Amino acid sequence: MTQTPIVARTRTELATARSAIDSADVAVVMTMGALHDGHAQLVRRARAEHDQVIVTIFLNPLQFGPKEDLSRYPRTFDADLAICTDAGVDLVFAPTPDVVYPDGDPGVRISAGPLGRVLEGQSRPGHFDGMLTVVAKLLHLTAPRSAYFGQKDAQQLLLIRRMVRDLDMPVEVVAVPTVREPDGLAMSSRNTYLTPSDRDVALCLSRALRRGAEAAAYGPSAIRRAAREVVVEEPLALVDYLVLVHPDTLADVPEWYRGEALLAVAARVGTTRLIDNTPVLVGPGGGALDVFSPDGAGEPIPHPH
Ligand code: AMP
Repeated sequence: MTQTPIVARTRTELATARSAIDSADVAVVMTMGALHDGHAQLVRRARAEHDQVIVTIFLNPLQFGPKEDLSRYPRTFDADLAICTDAGVDLVFAPTPDVVYPDGDPGVRISAGPLGRVLEGQSRPGHFDGMLTVVAKLLHLTAPRSAYFGQKDAQQLLLIRRMVRDLDMPVEVVAVPTVREPDGLAMSSRNTYLTPSDRDVALCLSRALRRGAEAAAYGPSAIRRAAREVVVEEPLALVDYLVLVHPDTLADVPEWYRGEALLAVAARVGTTRLIDNTPVLVGPGGGALDVFSPDGAGEPIPHPH
């Protein structure tokens, strides 16, 4: 029988519930709420691999710019709690901003550095500093052994890995592949903003990634060309970037490059900014290191390492 998780709203409630956990084998999944099956998949992985699972639900104002969608971001706590219950979560930490930032905006923050200023960081100045600051705080407050993050937010995942390494944080970071709708659209809380016609337009993102990955054997410019051909056919998708970059440096890979790369895209569709990506193995026998649809298109091939 599934049990409703303990819900902690304050630091004291969290501290009490956290100290009642008598296992050292705790995993955390951090979210901004409006949970969907992508989040649930992170929880299922954490659940399968650890004794106890904590989910945090916190819409972090620090990582939203003044013109971004903080005020309209969906808030669906009851449904989120039901998903956490089904997935077997033990403890939910759902604080308000004044709990997380009792003194207001923190003067001391984590700096994402140069990797935080490209791609998403170029369009969203300060976003990654705000994200890393809250991730660091939530790691301290929940004290997990492992923390699970989605490949969907590849730059976020990379920066969290860098922070943990660069600042010697005692936590294992685990990446979970992107969960997609049957038609290929990457699941996202922001998909609820899409009108039915926006949603059709939005499909060009995952289609571009899949086409790009299908050209992987022919090298970087073939991948970029194949992906770009898809998005130019969809003028209602306003592309911010469509890049093939090194997964560790986020620098464009040169034409001679062979090995794993990241094909990433961001575009505005209607009023909604969407991102998607796939890891790609570039070179002979290459392709997507991701699954695009349940019918097997873009089956992952074994990881080379
Ligand atoms: P968010 O609530 O959007 O901040 O996401 C919380 C966590 O869920 C992050 O680690 C995301 O990368 C991850 N996530 C969001 N969407 C997906 C998805 N479609 N597949 C896998 N992970 C996801």
